[in-house]
This record gives sequence, structure tokens and C-alpha cells, in this order.
Amino acid sequence: QAQASYDAQDLWQKDRNHFVHPFTDFSVFHENGCDLITDSDGIYVEDAHGNRFIDGIAGLWCVNVGHGRAEIGQAMAEQATRMAYFSTFNNLSNAPATELAAKLAELAPAHLNHVFYSCGGSTANDATIRLVHYYFNRLGKPSKKRILSRTNAYHGTTYMAASLTGIASNNWQFDTLDLVTHLSEANCYRRPEGMSEAEYCDHLTDELEQTIDRLGADNIAAFIAEPIMGAGGVLVAPQGYHSRVQAICRANDILFIADEVVTGFGRLGHFFASEAVFETQPDIINVAKGLSSGYAPLGATLISDALYEVLSTPQGPGGVLSTGFTYSGHPVSCAAALKNIEIIEREGICENVLDVGPYLESQLKTLASHETVGDIRGSHFMMAIENVADKTTKELLPVEARVGDRVAAEAQKRGLIIRPVGHLNIISPPLIWTRQVVDEVVAILDD
Ligand code: PLP
Repeated sequence: QAQASYDAQDLWQKDRNHFVHPFTDFSVFHENGCDLITDSDGIYVEDAHGNRFIDGIAGLWCVNVGHGRAEIGQAMAEQATRMAYFSTFNNLSNAPATELAAKLAELAPAHLNHVFYSCGGSTANDATIRLVHYYFNRLGKPSKKRILSRTNAYHGTTYMAASLTGIASNNWQFDTLDLVTHLSEANCYRRPEGMSEAEYCDHLTDELEQTIDRLGADNIAAFIAEPIMGAGGVLVAPQGYHSRVQAICRANDILFIADEVVTGFGRLGHFFASEAVFETQPDIINVAKGLSSGYAPLGATLISDALYEVLSTPQGPGGVLSTGFTYSGHPVSCAAALKNIEIIEREGICENVLDVGPYLESQLKTLASHETVGDIRGSHFMMAIENVADKTTKELLPVEARVGDRVAAEAQKRGLIIRPVGHLNIISPPLIWTRQVVDEVVAILDD
């Protein structure tokens, strides 16, 4: 039963009348209103009617240590009552932001020792592009402006982050900035007929090299990619793709940026997937979500020593690095992140993902025999099921079939929340799922 006595009807009315929901289909909203999630505990959430669900999406790929962690709440409360907020501009600082920066430098690949704080993933990516442009301006290379991203990438929804994003339906009827060139996504399931994975990797890296030739390396500042593409369909690139892309970038003086907003903080079994899983050493890694397990909004840009040297070179009289947010290094968010990291380390949460992750992958793959299941993919605690009309031709069901929504709705009726994204269903749970939970979840999906 829900603990608090919410008046669900009253809340529902207020919500419907006043709350403009992000990423919402208003045809559904006007008809059905919203589901009010009111309570949470461990791997579960509860709605206003007291219905309990297994959380199969970690809130939104973020509640990595699970719900209801009193010690995170306590750390935040202590910080909020001691010193809830003060500026970090103009050489001011606070203890949690400083401790967290040092901790991130310790956890990150060896060459990433400097942290720029933001409020979440979009603002981390946005701030990063400003810093990258500033970096090349300061090096006397002001023509290096264009950013290479990929079709179906998701990098957020500030103007810049939305422009980096390559999901057409996300930007439908919105405008984007003409600063980004999108390369092909790395989609092994839908790669050209008859191409091996190795040939597909060549094909993608050839496209990158041709694009650099066409645009001119002097006009390109950076390449940005998620190590595994998330909202764009949980796409795992062919073996060796990321390290080859990095090498091409290095050869052309193009910065290599990893957006680890989803893959960071344990989802693939490591604090950072770039080096540990994909054998890359990005110039910049962006994190958010699992950094604080969603207990407070926070994003961070981890910057290499080489970049920092340029960014931190004094400009001269009156010159300042004029970028940042009121809430850059927010003490309460940083206190939440420090406690969150302590829990991940103390409880061996990365080790749990390395142990249970392959089991989740193998058990989900037993669903492949179902009529509409075209592909089951991903890695560890980052998985998706692609629904199709025809498994041989991989033809999709019509949009009106709303297959992802219907599968998610049926799962919810049976006590499991998974995420519909078009024809896909995404499973990105808290990182504390056990094998027993996996069995329960797979039985619901099978049903
Ligand atoms: N980058 C990636 C890879 C994401 O998946 C997301 C959000 O899902 C973002 C950036 C944007 O983060 P936020 O919603 O915190 O701004």
C-alpha cells in the first residue's frame, strides 16, 4: 500500500490542467492522463492506487543503486541544512563538489583528471561543445566548429544537444542548429544484406573518412558518440568500431567525445565503459544519470589533461572562462553523488552487473521464438527487444499498431514497467537485479 494519503483524483486533475509533460503524446495524455508514481523501494515503484511494479527502466536509465536509499537522502539532508547552495563562480567552491571532482578523477581513465559540472546530460553535452569550440579558438583554429554525430544518437534536448541528437522523430517540427553532421548509425541488425560484421565496420569507418575529406578536417572540432547507443535503439557497434573511429579522429585533430550518460556508473559493469569495455581513451567523457542515481540532478564533463592545459591558460587581463550554470557543482547533488559512488563500491554493484548481466542477456534471448520478436540486443543491464512484422524481411509493424506501447502496457498489467520507444521495448533496470528477479521479469515478458 502507498504510505502517503495522496488524493489521486485531485492530483490527476491538477496534472492534466497544469503540468506540461516532456516527451508526451498529447493524444494519449488528453484521453488517459498520467500514471502517478508515488512510492519506491529497491527494485520496485508504486502508483497512487497502491499497485506495485518491478522497475525495469531504473526510472529513466538512472536509478542505478535502486530506490529508497535512506543514506543518500540523509547525506543530501545533512548538506542541505549545513549549506544548501552557494556559487562556484569566481573561484568560490564547496566541499562536496571538490571531493566529487577528485573522486571522479580517481575513477576515470588516467588522463581524465578535470571536471566541469552541469545539471544533467543535455547540459553536459551542451557545455562540452562550448568548451570544445573555446579550446580550438584558443589554439588559433577558429574554423574547427563542426561536430560529427550519428543518426539515431540521443544526446539530450537543449538546443545544442537536440542538434547533436539524430533521432528524426525527436526533432519533428522542432528546429536544430546547423553545426552538426550526422553519420550513419552502427546498427548490426539492420546492416546491409550480405555484409559481415567486419565489413560493416569498414563500411562505417570509410564513411567517416570520406566525410572528413568532404568537410575538411580544418572545419571539424569533434566526434561524439554513445559507447552503446541508448534511446536510439540500444545499438551495439561492430567489434573495434569505437577504437577505429578514435584513431581516425586523432589522425585528423578531431576530439573524440564519449557520451556515457547511460553507459557510465555500472550499467555495463564498470564506472566508465569507454576504456574498460571499448578500449578507447576519449578526450572528454560526459556523465549524468547514474552519477547520482537520479537522487538529484547532476551532470559532469570529464576533461583530459591536454585539454585542461589549454582551457586553464589565463586569457589575459579581464578574461574569464565565461561558461557555467548557477547549479554547477551543486553541493546537495554532489553529496548525493558521493554517497551513491560509495554504495556502488561498497556493495560491489559493478560486480553484480558483470555477474547478472550476461544472465539477463541469455534469458531475454529465450524470447526470440516469439512471432514479433525480431532482435534482442544490448549488453549487461542495457537491453532492448525490437518488434517486427516479419522476422525474415525485418519489416516493421505499422506505426498505428503501437507495438512497443502495447507490449509495455501488457507488462505493466503484470507488474513490470519497461519502456516503449516506437517499435522497441527497452529494459534498463536498477543494477541490483538478481537472477531471481530476471527469472520473474522474463516470465512476465514471455506471457
Ligand atoms: N545523453 C544520453 C546518452 C542520454 O541517454 C540522455 C538522456 O536520456 C542525455 C544525454 C540527456 O540527459 P538529460 O535528460 O539528463 O539532459
